[in-house]
Amino acid sequence: MPGSPAEVKLVSNAMANATRRKIMAMLVEKDRTHEEIEKTAGASMLDYHLQMLQQAGLADVKEGMVSLTEFGKNFMETKAEKPAEAKADLKGTKPLQVTEVRQLLPCIADASKFRIIARAEPALGGALKLLEPLFPRARYSERIGALIIQKGNILITLYSTGNITLTMIGSEDEARAILEGLKETINEAIAKGVTPVPRERVKVDHTEVYKYLPKTDCKICGEQSCYSFAIRLVGGETALEKCTPLLEPRFATSLETLRALREYL
Ligand code: SF4
Repeated sequence: MPGSPAEVKLVSNAMANATRRKIMAMLVEKDRTHEEIEKTAGASMLDYHLQMLQQAGLADVKEGMVSLTEFGKNFMETKAEKPAEAKADLKGTKPLQVTEVRQLLPCIADASKFRIIARAEPALGGALKLLEPLFPRARYSERIGALIIQKGNILITLYSTGNITLTMIGSEDEARAILEGLKETINEAIAKGVTPVPRERVKVDHTEVYKYLPKTDCKICGEQSCYSFAIRLVGGETALEKCTPLLEPRFATSLETLRALREYL
C-alpha cells in the first residue's frame, strides 16, 4: 500500500488523467483484457497509462489481463458513492455502529497526517440529509449523497452508503474518538426520533479562508496577495477557482476544506 509522500504523489498523478480514471472505472466492474480496455479507452498511449497505474500500485497487468490491486479496490471504494432517496423523518432509522476503521494514505497536504476510511452500519441512506443541523459546520451534498462535516482542520465525509472518510487525522486513535462522538450525536437524534431543527448558518471570515490558501502571494488570481484574495472571496468579489495553484496535488486537502468553507460564505 502506498505510504510515503512520493508514493502518494504517484497515485495523485495516476488519477489526474481522464483516460486513466476511465480505465479504473472499467476495472471496478471486473478484470479486463488489454483489448477490451483499448476499445473503450483508446489505443493512444495505452501502455503508458497502464504503466502509470501499475507504478501507483492501483492496477496489475498479468498475461494480457488488467485488474485492480487490493489498494486500487480500496481507493475506488472511497470514490464511488451514490445519492440515496431522501427521507422525510428519522422514524424507523436504526442506531449507528462503527464497524471498521482503516488507515488509508498519508494526506497529500501534510504527510504526517492520515486519510482514514471507516464504515458505519446500517447505512443511513436518505436519512443522512436530515442530520445536517446536528453539526455546527456540516453540509449535505446531493451530488455525492454525503454529509460533509468540518471539525477544525479535519473533514469527515459520511456517505449514505455507510462509508466514511476522514482527512488530516493524526492517528487511528484520534479517528476512533471522532467516530465515537459522531456516532453518539447521531444516535441521540435517532433515539429522539425527531428531525433536528434547522440551525443558523455559521459565518466564515477571511482569516479562516486565508489559513488554507497557498500563502505564496503569486498573484495568479489577479490579487496582490493571498490575504487580499481571502478578503475578496469572503466578500463574494472573486471565485475560489481563480486560485489555480490550489489544483496542485500538495494543496488537495486545503482545496477540499476551502470548498467546504465556501458553503458558509
Ligand atoms: S493565486 Fe492563490 S496562491 Fe496565488 S496569490 Fe492568489 S490566492 Fe495566493
